[in-house]
Amino acid sequence: MKIPFNIPPYMGKELIYVKQAIEVNKKISGDGLYTTLCHEWLENNNPSSKALLTTSCTHALEMTAMLIDIQEGDEVIVPSYTFVSSVNAFVIRGAKIKFVDIRPDTMNIDENLIESAITSKTKAIIPVHYAGVACEMDKIMEIARKYDLYVIEDAAQALMSTYKGKALGSIGDFGCFSFHETKNYSMGEGGALLIQNELFKERAEIIREKGTNRSKFIRGQVDKYTWVDKGSSYLPSEINAAYLFAQLEEAKVINQDRLKSWQVYFKELYSLAQNRIIEIPSISNSKEHNAHMFYIKCKDIKERTSLIKFLQDNGVQSAFHYIPLHSATAGKVHGEFIGEDKFTTSESERLVRLPLFYGLEEKTILFITSLIKSYYIKGED
Ligand SMILES: *Cc1c(COP(=O)(O)O)cnc(C)c1O
Repeated sequence: MKIPFNIPPYMGKELIYVKQAIEVNKKISGDGLYTTLCHEWLENNNPSSKALLTTSCTHALEMTAMLIDIQEGDEVIVPSYTFVSSVNAFVIRGAKIKFVDIRPDTMNIDENLIESAITSKTKAIIPVHYAGVACEMDKIMEIARKYDLYVIEDAAQALMSTYKGKALGSIGDFGCFSFHETKNYSMGEGGALLIQNELFKERAEIIREKGTNRSKFIRGQVDKYTWVDKGSSYLPSEINAAYLFAQLEEAKVINQDRLKSWQVYFKELYSLAQNRIIEIPSISNSKEHNAHMFYIKCKDIKERTSLIKFLQDNGVQSAFHYIPLHSATAGKVHGEFIGEDKFTTSESERLVRLPLFYGLEEKTILFITSLIKSYYIKGED
């Protein structure tokens, strides 16, 4: 048996919609019917926000850096345990990255360490909702208001998750989502920007459309479109949007299926966790998550390497995750870790992600969890 780490979701209507875009709508460039349907879906899911599909979450983040006018020497506060795009979007505009430590329970930024990293140059806080589990947004928003900072949620993994009933990505000034094939909902490559702050809703459309007011023109609000501001090309094609819409329509089905798998892992590995052999995630009741990921934590990096190999030898693909950015070559050039690295490095070295995707069968999960149990029982002799 070979069990892959991920299989991108495919719900069945994707090709019908792609065909419709090509043959019926005869529109394959951006901002046609399917893009509009995706925008409506995202806006219904996140009331008061404006949604724009983008070519990636990376590009959605780049758009926010342009919108808040990041300049050489500005600073942003980010956890070091994240994907490169959470920081590169700001680095390419000259920002300095201030990394702070994470909380070991969620692997998210430690909200209590943010204030000590703030200086007169700080422009924004970038909370990353790791594994689709919410950061402590009340505290983060309170700090942002106190120091007049923007909050840009890296919600790449967090569509369909909530914090105290609010959709992730709709709490800060901006939320950035990814529809890369490794995420819960996919369009191959793609993403979305969600804008709460009224000041930026119109300008975001312009930046996304090469610095023109073409969006207003399409809506008939102006009779010709021209160059009005800085911008680039951040809109995906209708082919990708059609593919995504088929998945958004089935978002609840996908979400339920993933949550069911997550629960099976949790239940099956609970006794190992109770016996303090491994750790499994604990998620507070105020956070409804989307089962983006199921991970366990081993004792240390040595045990992790050996467990990943054991699973591989038995046909199961598992994966470790981020190498902390502050320890990477570019991280040392563009960033600085503020305070002590108590958890970022040590916790990241212990974490292993297990296969989790739409349609993963319960019997497959039981096979994986029994392998893990046998690994530890064998290890105890
Ligand atoms: C996947 C991911 C991104 C990048 O998404 P793309 O759509 O591939 O650009 C950014 N941040 C986090 C936390 C991610 O998981």
